[in-house]
Amino acid sequence: MLKVFNWQLGRDMEYPYEESRPDRQFAIAFNINRCIGCQTCTMACKNTWTFSEGQEQMWWNNVETKPYGGYPRHWDIKLLNMLGPGSWDGDKFEGETIFEQAPDGEKVLGHMPSDDDWAYPNMYEDTPAGSLDHGTSLPAHDPWMFYLQRTCNQCTYPGCLGSCPRQAIYKRPEDGIVLVDQERCRGYRKCVEGCPYKKAMYRPNEGVTEKCIGCFPRIEDGIGSRCVVACVGKIRLQGWVNTPENADPNSPLDYLVHIAKVALPLYPQFGTEPNLYYIPPRWAPRPFLKQLFGPGVEHAIEAYTNPDDKLFGLLRLFGVTQQIITRFEVNDEEAIGWNEAGEEIARMPFDEPIFVRDEIDVRFDVQRLNEP
Ligand code: SF4
Ligand code: SF4
Repeated sequence: MLKVFNWQLGRDMEYPYEESRPDRQFAIAFNINRCIGCQTCTMACKNTWTFSEGQEQMWWNNVETKPYGGYPRHWDIKLLNMLGPGSWDGDKFEGETIFEQAPDGEKVLGHMPSDDDWAYPNMYEDTPAGSLDHGTSLPAHDPWMFYLQRTCNQCTYPGCLGSCPRQAIYKRPEDGIVLVDQERCRGYRKCVEGCPYKKAMYRPNEGVTEKCIGCFPRIEDGIGSRCVVACVGKIRLQGWVNTPENADPNSPLDYLVHIAKVALPLYPQFGTEPNLYYIPPRWAPRPFLKQLFGPGVEHAIEAYTNPDDKLFGLLRLFGVTQQIITRFEVNDEEAIGWNEAGEEIARMPFDEPIFVRDEIDVRFDVQRLNEP
C-alpha cells in the first residue's frame, strides 16, 4: 500500500493508489435539521436513473431514519463492528481505516450485504430511540430520531475503486465524480464489498455494478444533481470543495466545511475522505453524532445555533436555484450567489418583503383575500 494524506483524519494513511486529486471536487452539503423525510430526492433519482429491469433494488439516493434505519440493512453497524473501536486525538484519527485493516490478500476491509439486506429500502422509518418514562413523549421529548440523506460520496479515496481487481472504476479529473466503466466491469462485486457506504450496487440481469453518477451531464452544464434540485425541504447545497489549505471563503462549500466548520463528513474514520457534508441535528445525543460525524460535532452545532453573519446568509441560499452557486457574498440585508460564468443566480433578502394586495383586483375583476 502507498501513503496518501487524508485531511479528514489529520494524517497520512494507506491506500492502494497514489494521491491524485481532481481539478475540482464535487460536493454536497445537507442540513439534516431541515429534512422532512419526504423522499422526493429519492424518487427524483429513481425516476431519472434506476427505473429499468434489474435496478429494482437500486436506490442511489435514499433517506434513512437514524439510529436504527439503514439501506442496505445495518450497512454501517456491520462495518463498525468489524473495524472495532477507534479514537480521536483532537482532529487526528488514531484508529485504523478500512484500508489499514484490509485482510491478507485484500485491499479493503468490507462486507457483502445479503439479498435480504437489500430488500427493505426504508426499514425503521420514523422509529425513534429513547424511553418514555411517563407513557407519553410530551413534554420531555426524550425519544429522538433524524433523517440521514445518503448518496455516493464521490470519495477522494474510494473504497469501490481501491477494491476493484479490474481497475474498472475511475475518478474523473475534471469534477471528482467516481464512475464504473461498464465495458471493463465483470461483475465480481468487490466494489459492493469494498464501498463502506454500500453505494456501489450490482445489477444481476446485466452482470455489472452500477452506482450514482452524480448526474454528471447536468453538472457539466452547471445544473445541480436531481436529488439536490428536487429537495422540497431546501436542505441541500451543491458545489465544489477544496482541501483545507486551499479553502476559498467565497466558495459556499468551502465556507461551510472549512471556515464555519458547520458541515461534517459521514464516518470520516472509514478513511475514504467522503465529499458529502452534513450539518448535524441539534437534538440527537452527542456520542451518537460523534460516531457518525467525527470530533467536530460540538463546534458544528454551536456554529449552526449561533451563526456568524456570513453563515446566516449562506444558509439562506440552500435550495433557491437549480444552478450550482460557485461564489457567494453576504451583506447587511441579503445573500447573493453567482454561477461559474459570473452571472447572478440568487439574491435572498434576510427579511422577506410583505405585499398587501388590493381587495378588488380590477385587472381580473376578482376579489382577493389577504391573510394576516
Ligand atoms: S461512496 Fe462508495 S461508491 Fe461512492 S465513491 Fe465512495 S466508495 Fe465508491
Ligand atoms: S427531498 Fe429534501 S427534505 Fe425531502 S427527504 Fe430528500 S433531503 Fe429530505
